[in-house]
Amino acid sequence: MIAAARPSLDVAASTRALDGKSALEILTWAAEQIGPKLTFATGFGAEGCVIIDLIGRAKLPIDLFTLDTGLLFPETYALWRELETRYGVTIRAVRPAQTVSEQASAFGPALWARDPDRCCELRKVKPLRAALAGFDAWITAIRRDQTPERATAQIVETDPKFGLLKINPLVAWTHDDVWAHIYRHDVPYNALHDRGFPSIGCQPCTSAVRAGEDPRAGRWRGSAKKECGLHVITKQGD
Ligand code: SF4
Repeated sequence: MIAAARPSLDVAASTRALDGKSALEILTWAAEQIGPKLTFATGFGAEGCVIIDLIGRAKLPIDLFTLDTGLLFPETYALWRELETRYGVTIRAVRPAQTVSEQASAFGPALWARDPDRCCELRKVKPLRAALAGFDAWITAIRRDQTPERATAQIVETDPKFGLLKINPLVAWTHDDVWAHIYRHDVPYNALHDRGFPSIGCQPCTSAVRAGEDPRAGRWRGSAKKECGLHVITKQGD
């Protein structure tokens, strides 16, 4: 059973109070208000690396984990190790119930090519739901300008899909804000970003984008799917 959002925290008032604050101030506030039942789920995108940099340098006591689908790029696994070493943190692996080969035995090979919503449900959404059990709030790295579905995201919001609070410290940041922070603080980032991959997920569902394409055009290319279903409550979809 997933913990209910903390009743003592006024979501609207908290968002108003945090409006205009820096991402570090928002993270520090969240760590103080929520304590050990706060976690950050990172997918190792550029934004996630910024949040790990902020948490790591400030030594904020925030749990860190990633959804290891077993299908990540070698560059992503290398970045995971580099971030842990650089900041002296542990980023826990949360894995699906089935390995990739067990899933192939149960559902046939390459489920992602035939039914990506089901594959994401099995390898991302269900493990995330289990991983969030017992936490009161989770931090995400979403920005409003990433997708239309994220355009109305707030700094603090309730997350009815997972039954807890959601803290979005980078929600007002732009793409350029993220990369300015990375370069200024020499934050490790995925080597694939320099090879035409602005948005990186599982290897079978991620391709490079061409000049002028939407940054997420390389995710589930050729399908209508644009999200994994982790940050969208009105439709399935990262
Ligand atoms: S991104 Fe692709 S491979 Fe990864 S869980 Fe979703 S459908 Fe499966």
